[in-house]
Amino acid sequence: MGTGVAVVMNERLARYSFGDGHPFGPDRLAAFTREFEARGLDRRVQLLEPRTASDEELRAFHSAPYLEFVRERSASGSGLLDAGDTPAFRGVYEAAAGVVGASLSAMEAIMRADCRRAFVPIAGLHHAARDRAAGFCVFNDCGVVIELLKRAGLKRIAYVDIDAHHGDGVFYAFEDDAAVVFADLHEDGRYLYPGTGASGETGRGAATGMKLNVPLPPGSDDEVFEQVWPRVMAHLGRFDPEFIILQCGADSLEGDPITHLRLSPRAHGHAARALRELADQLGHGRVLALGGGGYNRTNLAQAWNAVVENLL
Ligand SMILES: [Zn+2]
Repeated sequence: MGTGVAVVMNERLARYSFGDGHPFGPDRLAAFTREFEARGLDRRVQLLEPRTASDEELRAFHSAPYLEFVRERSASGSGLLDAGDTPAFRGVYEAAAGVVGASLSAMEAIMRADCRRAFVPIAGLHHAARDRAAGFCVFNDCGVVIELLKRAGLKRIAYVDIDAHHGDGVFYAFEDDAAVVFADLHEDGRYLYPGTGASGETGRGAATGMKLNVPLPPGSDDEVFEQVWPRVMAHLGRFDPEFIILQCGADSLEGDPITHLRLSPRAHGHAARALRELADQLGHGRVLALGGGGYNRTNLAQAWNAVVENLL
């Protein structure tokens, strides 16, 4: 043991959803799991039960007043958590803390060397800011994982994001933080939410030059991905990260109902394999892949399972 891949999930993760008919519906987990089992991947990975995140862990990234706000909306089950994309529902606090807990369980398994790499399907909620929800994201599990890795003493943590949307919640929270090496391929913000992530946004202060944003024109396909991916690898290669997070949102695939990129699952598989190889070259092997967006159920099943296969 200790050399393989863990997948962290259980039925409770599906509770993080905004209802039947919403793009982020409860059926996304089942769509992944059906394909995962059809490919026999459930017999080739360690399946780990997620835990839930404590309030103290959530406070490592989120502000106390924001946590209190979510707790109130979660009890009433009504209203919105942001300007319009992210409705409250009864139990949303616990469901969102469950997502963070799943990502923490995966991170801890890697850090204990119970596995080298891990994947969490319902995770990678990269739009949530320290003090607010945004774009279907209530708690930012990526941000909590990064903060706790820093507390554990890591000095260089890489965050790579191939979701169609810019990972603004992670980017702005760590824009001036030299512990976070950031690389994000996304649909150009002039055409897609959240509108940020221009190529000139390269970090501030001590982290100037440590953040790579690559906006892609609508319609970009695997050929474009292959042209720009080496920039991500060159960027990471300058910093020798001790831990690599991949937010592998499947909404960058052709046929997603809310975006306009045209990647195939091969891009996601390629990214996972390249990051795995880099992590192995660096000697630690640590890669944590988080599902992220993806609203075409066939696409998310194909892209995420390609990631798992290429982490094996
Ligand atoms: Zn997205």
